[in-house]
Amino acid sequence: MTILVKIADLDLSGKTVLIREDYNVPLKDGAVADDTRIRASLPTIKQLLEAGSKIILVSHLGRPVAGQYDEAFSLAPIAKCLSELLGRDVPLIKDWLNGIDMSDKDIVLCENVRFETGETKNDEALSRKMGQLCQVYINDAFATAHRAQASTHGVAKYAAIAAAGPLLIAELKALTKALRDAKKPLVAIVGGAKVSTKLTILETLSDKVDQLIVGGGIANTFLKAAGHNIGNSLFEADLVEVAANLIEQAKIKGCDIPLPVDVVCGKAFDENTPAITKLLSDIEDDDLILDVGPETSQQLNNILTNANTIVWNGPLGVFEFEQFSAGTKNLADAIANSDAYSIAGGGDTIAAISKFGVISDISYISTGGGAFLEFLEGKKLPAIEILEEAARSWAAMEKAREY
Ligand code: AMP
Repeated sequence: MTILVKIADLDLSGKTVLIREDYNVPLKDGAVADDTRIRASLPTIKQLLEAGSKIILVSHLGRPVAGQYDEAFSLAPIAKCLSELLGRDVPLIKDWLNGIDMSDKDIVLCENVRFETGETKNDEALSRKMGQLCQVYINDAFATAHRAQASTHGVAKYAAIAAAGPLLIAELKALTKALRDAKKPLVAIVGGAKVSTKLTILETLSDKVDQLIVGGGIANTFLKAAGHNIGNSLFEADLVEVAANLIEQAKIKGCDIPLPVDVVCGKAFDENTPAITKLLSDIEDDDLILDVGPETSQQLNNILTNANTIVWNGPLGVFEFEQFSAGTKNLADAIANSDAYSIAGGGDTIAAISKFGVISDISYISTGGGAFLEFLEGKKLPAIEILEEAARSWAAMEKAREY
C-alpha cells in the first residue's frame, strides 16, 4: 500500500495549511450548477478550522489562458458557494502568490491557479512560492493527480510537509480495492469509441481480470479481428491485428474476452435512424453496429451475476441515441443489481450512469476522468508519486526526531 502522510498524522493547530482542492465544477449563469465537489471538501475544512489552522484553498477552473485574468474562469462563484455552505465569509484573493495576511482560523480561497504563468508547466519558481505560503500542503484533488503541475506536484517539493487529503485517499483506496486487491472473479468492461485511446487499458486489464468485456467501437475492431463482417461500422483497421493478438494473449493468461453475439444496427449515424437487431451472421455491408443485442446483454448479465468485482469504463453503444441505448442501460442495471464491489469512471460512463439513474447503486464512482483511466493503465500518477516521496522524507525526519 502506498505510504502517504495523512491529516491524522499531523498537529495542524495554528498552522497555515494550503489545500489543493478540486473545485473545477460546472457553472451556469455565473453560479455553481453542481456543488457536490465543494460539499465533499467541507468536512476537512471544518476539521482544520476547529484545529485552529489558517486555511488557503487553491483550485483550477476550466482552461483559461495563463498569465491573464478572465472573469469567465474566476472562482468568484465558488467563493460565494463556500461562504454559504460554511456560513461565514470566504474571501477570494486575487493577488495571493506573494503572501496572504491571515489570522488564526481564517479561511481564504485563491483565484484560479491557472491564471498564474507556469502552473500547467510545473514551473519551479511558482511551485516554490506556493510552497512558501504554507507550513503544510494537502492535496485533495484526485481528478488532477495525473498531471504534474505546480499546484499538484511542484509545490509538494517546497512545502515543509506534503500530505494527502481524505478525498484523495478514499479514491486511491477504492481503486486499489477494485484492481490491485480485487476479490475474484474480477470483470472489467471497456467500451467507447476507439481501441487506440484505450489500448494500454485493455492490455493492462487483460493481465489482471478474469473476463474483459469490450463494447462500442472497440468491440467492432475485435469482431473484425475475429473474422466477422461488421459492415460499415466504426472500427480501426490498423488495430485489427493488435486486437487479434490481445484475444490470443488474453486466452493464454486465462482471461476471457467475450464478443457480442447479436447487435443493434442502423443504416446511418443519426438519432432518427431505425434500429434493427441482428445476429452477427446477418450483417449487411451498409449496416452500422451501434449497440449490443438482447442475447449479448443476457450473456453479460450472467457474467456479471457471478462477478465479485466489476470495473467499468465506456458505453456499450451509442447510448446518447434512445434506440441504441438498451445495451448500456442493461449493463448499468446489471452492475447496479450485482452484489459485487463495483467501480466506474470516465466522463461518458458517469453520464450514462446518471442518465440511467443508478448512481447510488454503484459502489464507487471515480471523480477522476483522466486520472481514473491512467490508474487503470497501471501508470504511476505524478501527484501521488511526489506525495509518496514527501512521506518518505517526513517519516525519516520523524524517526530522527525520536532519537
Ligand atoms: P469514449 O470517449 O471512447 O469512451 O467513447 C464514448 C463514445 O463512443 C460515446 O459518445 C458513444 O456514443 C460512442 N460509441 C459507442 N459505441 C459506438 C459505436 N458502436 N459506434 C460509434 N460510436 C460509438
